[in-house]
Amino acid sequence: MEWFSKSMVDDETTMLTEPFVHDYVRANIWHLRGRDADLLVDTGMGIRPLAPEIETSRGKPLLVVATHIHLDHVGSLHEFPWRAGPRMSAAQFENMDEAATYAYMFHDLEGAVSKLPEPGWKAADYKIPSAPLTRTLDEGDVIDLGDRQFRVLHLPGHSPDSIALFDEADGLFFSGDAIYDDTLIDSLPDSDRAAYIGTMRRLLDLPIRIGHGGHGPSFDGERMRAIATAYLRLHVGL
Ligand SMILES: [Zn+2]
Repeated sequence: MEWFSKSMVDDETTMLTEPFVHDYVRANIWHLRGRDADLLVDTGMGIRPLAPEIETSRGKPLLVVATHIHLDHVGSLHEFPWRAGPRMSAAQFENMDEAATYAYMFHDLEGAVSKLPEPGWKAADYKIPSAPLTRTLDEGDVIDLGDRQFRVLHLPGHSPDSIALFDEADGLFFSGDAIYDDTLIDSLPDSDRAAYIGTMRRLLDLPIRIGHGGHGPSFDGERMRAIATAYLRLHVGL
């Protein structure tokens, strides 16, 4: 069966997602083709293998970046040899600590999947294999694809370890769950609303052309500022 849906966003970009998982954990997976290397941002739930779905040119490395350690972003990370993620949570990638991934929340989630990935599959058995990072990322680091460079931004709030990738040359922004065009989650055990307010203030000034988020549709700069402004109005009465 086809577990993933794929859509071409532009000549260089494909978005994959898992239509049969509960929308709470249905995250966007971004594949961007670069000149010297390809980039994969986040890896979904890991319920079915993701690596065979990612077509890369022969010999070109695939740089895989986890934006944060939540289950719906790191499930298939172990399938890839080059694994980057937040320095802050690096130790937890060693064993995919469930206190950090929240994998346990999926075990008894009502309607976890709308279609079984294989006969006899049970959400209660869901487990994320460990995926030790081969590179850790923090504010200011650079991911280089040859024709593009992404600056790493540390944008805490949704989770303490949330990072995003920003191409300062053309405004392409992979935002993870730091900001996206859907209901923002700031009430998880490791969420921090004060930090999220700081992140939203920072995003107001980020000159993006287009943002591809961890959930929801892509957004332009005007839309991102509207989302950030709505959050600030709600929580600090801007
Ligand atoms: Zn998350």
